[in-house]
Amino acid sequence: MRIILLGAPGAGKGTVAELLTDRFGISQISTGDILRGAVKAGTDLGAAAEGYMKRGELVPDSLILGIMENRLLQDDCREGFILDGFPRTIAQAESLKKMLGILALKIDAVVNLEVPVDVIIRRLSSRRTCSNPACQAIYNIYTKPSRMEGICDKCGSPTIQRDDETEEAIKQRLATYAEKTAPLIDYYKNDPAFISVPSLRPEPVIDAILSIVDR
Ligand code: AMP
Repeated sequence: MRIILLGAPGAGKGTVAELLTDRFGISQISTGDILRGAVKAGTDLGAAAEGYMKRGELVPDSLILGIMENRLLQDDCREGFILDGFPRTIAQAESLKKMLGILALKIDAVVNLEVPVDVIIRRLSSRRTCSNPACQAIYNIYTKPSRMEGICDKCGSPTIQRDDETEEAIKQRLATYAEKTAPLIDYYKNDPAFISVPSLRPEPVIDAILSIVDR
C-alpha cells in the first residue's frame, strides 16, 4: 500500500503515519526525519539543509529529490510506503509522479489532514522530541507527556524543543506551507485517490484511509 500524507506542519502526519506503519507494516518515509538525522550526523546533506530548517523554510527541491530517488529504491519500500512530508511543492509532486511512473507504482491514497491554524500553533509549540536521532519519539507537554519530564520513555535520552518549533519559526513554516505546499491540494483534488479529512484526532483519519484503500 502506498499513501501520501498532506497537511500543514503539526497536522498530525507523523502520528497517522506511525499508526499506519503499525497496522500495515509498511515504511514511513519522513523527509523531515531524514534531514534531522543528517544534521545530527554532520553529513554534507545535513550542513546544506540546516539553515533552511532552522528558519522554517523549505530545503531546495534538488536536495530532497536526491533523497527520495534513493529512498524509494530501498528494499523496504517494495511492500509499500507512507510519504510523510513529501511532496511539499508542485515541482516535488511532478517529480514523484515521474519516479512512480518509472517504477510502475501507483498511489492508493492521497490524504489531506485538515486542522485549524490555532490548533496547529498550540500543537507545535507544546511538542517535545527525543534528541536521539535514532529514536526521535514525539511527545506533547499537554496531551502526551513523557513519563519523566524531559526524558524519552523509549530510549531515556533528553527530550528537546526543536529549533523550528519556536514561535517565530512556526509562523514562518505556516507561511511557507500556505505559499508552497497548500497548492498541492488543488494539484491532487481530482485524483480518485484523494481525500481530505478533519484531523483533530488520528483514529477517524485512519478509518477514512481504510475506507478508501478497501474500496
Ligand atoms: P517536518 O518535520 O516534515 O515538518 O520537516 C522539517 C523541515 O525539514 C521543514 O520545515 C523543511 O525545512 C524540511 N523539509 C522536510 N521535508 C521537506 C520537503 N519535502 N521539501 C523541502 N523541505 C523539507
